Amino acid sequence: MKVGILGGGQLARMLAEAGHPMGLSFLVVDPKPGASASQVAEQLVADYDSEPARDALADCDAVTCDFENVPAAALEALAERVPVRPSAAALAAAQDRFVEKSRFQSLDMATPAFAAVDRRPDLLAAIDRIGLPAVLKTRTMGYDGKGQVVLRDREDLEAAWQRLSGRPLILEQWVAFDHECSITVVRGADGNKRFYPLSRTWHADGILRLAVAPCPNADRLQAEAERMAGRLADDLDYVGCLTLELFASGNELRANEFAPRAHNSAHWTIEGARCSQFENHLRAVCGWPLGDPAARSGISVLFNFIGELPEAASWLAVDGLAWHDYGKTARPGRKVGHATLVAPDREALDAARAGLEDLLPSDLRGALDGILPRRA
Ligand code: AMP
Repeated sequence: MKVGILGGGQLARMLAEAGHPMGLSFLVVDPKPGASASQVAEQLVADYDSEPARDALADCDAVTCDFENVPAAALEALAERVPVRPSAAALAAAQDRFVEKSRFQSLDMATPAFAAVDRRPDLLAAIDRIGLPAVLKTRTMGYDGKGQVVLRDREDLEAAWQRLSGRPLILEQWVAFDHECSITVVRGADGNKRFYPLSRTWHADGILRLAVAPCPNADRLQAEAERMAGRLADDLDYVGCLTLELFASGNELRANEFAPRAHNSAHWTIEGARCSQFENHLRAVCGWPLGDPAARSGISVLFNFIGELPEAASWLAVDGLAWHDYGKTARPGRKVGHATLVAPDREALDAARAGLEDLLPSDLRGALDGILPRRA
């Protein structure tokens, strides 16, 4: 079978890596020559909604995406010729933060308080209702903390408005969460669903830097996260992997956003789960039975590399560490690779952490110590 992928970034690359052992081949469409996935799969350099792209993708057995902002019209036209999974409607549901959070509410999923902001008086009214601190975000095209400004007090309002106005916006309550976590669900074309264990996530400047899975002490959160992600996936008649990002306060979860694709917080599943998110996404897209999402025994820690990759050899010296270089050129803020440490028990984990001591930047080391305190 041949799978077409719109977008040739690292997610497409890891989909291809997961699909090759199952006998799948891939066609990746990306307007930028030399996309990350082109190093492991055939790339067509073309605009997503160009005729050559449509014709080449229509020759595939199924089509999926590695990012959510694919123009809905391009996907709808394609869907008349080839199965597109997840559907154009499911992708569109994640493209506008206000529409997305309104859907969460209608599905009885708790969210931070929010309001649509189009004009300046809307912003003042929203602040009166929601209070400060709050965060003003663009409704569309924002990711990894881009297109958002935190308002701590009324003095921040003018600068935020100058920066973001002119586009449809959303004001959200700033949540003083205990921690963030994400759940990935895979749903087959027959409606069957399987859930990965929660990943505990840690972000800096809006970008994921660290994930620990399964999320420690999260038995009660897991059930609620599954309820939320399951409702959302059913509501969207979703096919493939979907990740729901959550804020946890005590035993309460609030939904921030969802990604209709493979997700960074579940990259640990490549080595740390019985069937990775990438393999399961492809199984769903191809109409095959879903694989077991359970974690292999032990704990997985995912480190994200932003901007540039550290030297591989010193990291690879650590037992249990897997290295992923996305083959991208270095650029500030760009996700260029990740490493996953899978340790069978806390003893092995602590030994590996000693090996990473000099390699981890201090903020990451501190975050990891906060999530998994070292044993005396
Ligand atoms: P987003 O682009 O919405 O995923 O936001 C990126 C990151 O910014 C999140 O993972 C949080 O760390 C932080 N953030 C976004 N929205 C909020 C919020 N309403 N309250 C607290 N933190 C937030």
